[in-house]
Amino acid sequence: MEKGNGGIADMGNMEHTPVVKEVTKRHMGKVHGNAKRNEEMVMNYLKLLASGIVKKRLSPDEAHIIRERKKRLENCNRFWSMETYEASHVRVLLRTFLCKDKFCSNCNQVKKMLLQNRFLPYMEQYKDSLYHMVLTVPDCNGEELRETIQHMAYCFKTLVTYLNGNKKVKGVDLSQYGFQGCIRSLEVTYREDVYHPHFHVAVVLGNNGIGEKHIANQFSGTGNRLFSDFESMIQRIWWLLVNGKRLTSDNILGADNSPQRYSCIVDKFQPEDYKKLFGYMTKMYSEDNSLMRYDNFKTLYYALSHIRQIQGYGVFYNVKELNTEAYTEQEYQTLESYLVCKEKPVCSYEPLSRLSGDERYIVLKTKHRK
Ligand SMILES: [Zn+2]
Repeated sequence: MEKGNGGIADMGNMEHTPVVKEVTKRHMGKVHGNAKRNEEMVMNYLKLLASGIVKKRLSPDEAHIIRERKKRLENCNRFWSMETYEASHVRVLLRTFLCKDKFCSNCNQVKKMLLQNRFLPYMEQYKDSLYHMVLTVPDCNGEELRETIQHMAYCFKTLVTYLNGNKKVKGVDLSQYGFQGCIRSLEVTYREDVYHPHFHVAVVLGNNGIGEKHIANQFSGTGNRLFSDFESMIQRIWWLLVNGKRLTSDNILGADNSPQRYSCIVDKFQPEDYKKLFGYMTKMYSEDNSLMRYDNFKTLYYALSHIRQIQGYGVFYNVKELNTEAYTEQEYQTLESYLVCKEKPVCSYEPLSRLSGDERYIVLKTKHRK
């Protein structure tokens, strides 16, 4: 629900109009649910620390890092900085403290939002020539995961050098697709000890696009999906790259079927693809919808350490992941000036658990409108 100035104060003409939104009970309940899930993650960190110390596997530095991450996660979004207007029964949420851990449910939601805000304006410029590509490799187990992810990243980089024309294959014209750049996003799904790393890619291609879909192959499935020449070729190239084979015209386009394929689909970018592109690197739930087990946590903790989720190439090369708190100093100041009320606010840090059950106050949060 949007609230205008009426409910709080009439500020007349302001240069920037902050949008003040009511923080609903439902939203607070949801955030409270995140805190519950985070408790599980805190337990996972604790186990990792305890078993590492008992088995003497952790260096003091590693143990320190795990201990710190656990502490930050524990306190993530637990306290909201609030201003309370007692007479109006209104509390204004100013800021909260976020841990930025990749296993944190709060921070994953915030990161998703920040990534979208960051990349969307750039992607909009290419919306007519934007495609969604999904590249996969066969599933692997926990032990192979880190190496698989690193190898995929390396092969993807190589694939880009072929698509942008820096490397060429004699007899294969890859420049005809007019590749201009892409945003590559890593996602890892899992079920028991089976991991499925894959890339979602937003790719800008030239006017010719990917051409008609007319090829049936082993990935067509029961839905009889057909593939374009571009998709079919990328499936081959991706297999060759991942398996360390030479890219030759024969290997890519030849009738010989000994070079195989890995799955690749490329379609016009749809609005719902943003969600896939800027989704979580790894979900808190496995593919059968059970909460992440300790062994999955441990595997993902080590496999994803210092692994970058998003990477831009070509026209998106300079768009970097944002790493900021939800509220900037400027937003904070705008908020203060907006709230020129007679009443003096009482500043306080409130534990979230108390707020979500409190019926006496309406909680507001501010957001800056561009
Ligand atoms: Zn967090």
